[in-house]
Amino acid sequence: MKNYLIIVAGGTGKRMQSDIPKQFIRVAGMPVLYHSLKRFQGLFENLHTVLVLPAQHISKWKELCIDLNINIPHQLVAGGKQRFESVKAGLSLLPDEDGLVAIHDGVRPLVAVELIKNAFQTAAEKGNAIPAIKVPESIRQLKGGNSTAVNRDYYRLIQTPQVFRINLIKKAYLQPYRESFTDDASVLESMGDKIHLIEGNPQNIKITNKSDLNIFEALLK
Ligand code: C5P
Repeated sequence: MKNYLIIVAGGTGKRMQSDIPKQFIRVAGMPVLYHSLKRFQGLFENLHTVLVLPAQHISKWKELCIDLNINIPHQLVAGGKQRFESVKAGLSLLPDEDGLVAIHDGVRPLVAVELIKNAFQTAAEKGNAIPAIKVPESIRQLKGGNSTAVNRDYYRLIQTPQVFRINLIKKAYLQPYRESFTDDASVLESMGDKIHLIEGNPQNIKITNKSDLNIFEALLK
């Protein structure tokens, strides 16, 4: 089975309040996106990689690759307004063949090699693999102006990379977009497929705010 990787970095990072999208911000001299890409290198023979970027930033990324000597082979495609559309654009470049695809957020540069390998192995056996971690804090549900404590053992925080059989996830992405599609697992699940959780990693943070960048920098050291 051939392995593919789609890194979605098609967002413009409004929550970061920065002029450059968060995936381009440099940490230890290199863009966040480069750190995410690099995590997957050398793990598999021939991992065909697709990078989804905002259309207006494609030329900027090409310049960065030249200036910073980034020579990880990858194919580029423009993303869409929603993450859903960006993933769909990435999937459209994949052949209709029996293989696996990892879909990873470009803003998760600390994903562990063991997690990636486990995700591919589980998806090869079960059709999909979704990394999840326990909720470390207490949680409350908001309802009608009140809040009630809920049992956190019933919940998990979901991460990427999420790995799927190509034909199954491509079929799921033929559906029209719904607001409940917050990740790729939710898109597949709506087709009636069973979702297989694997152990995620608390260090596999999603860089959302400025403070996450500081955490990333510290963990990288
Ligand atoms: O916005 P959020 O933090 O949920 O984004 C998760 C990932 O999805 C990021 O890597 C972001 O660049 C990507 N994304 C995308 N296209 C969008 C919105 C987000 O590829 N339209």
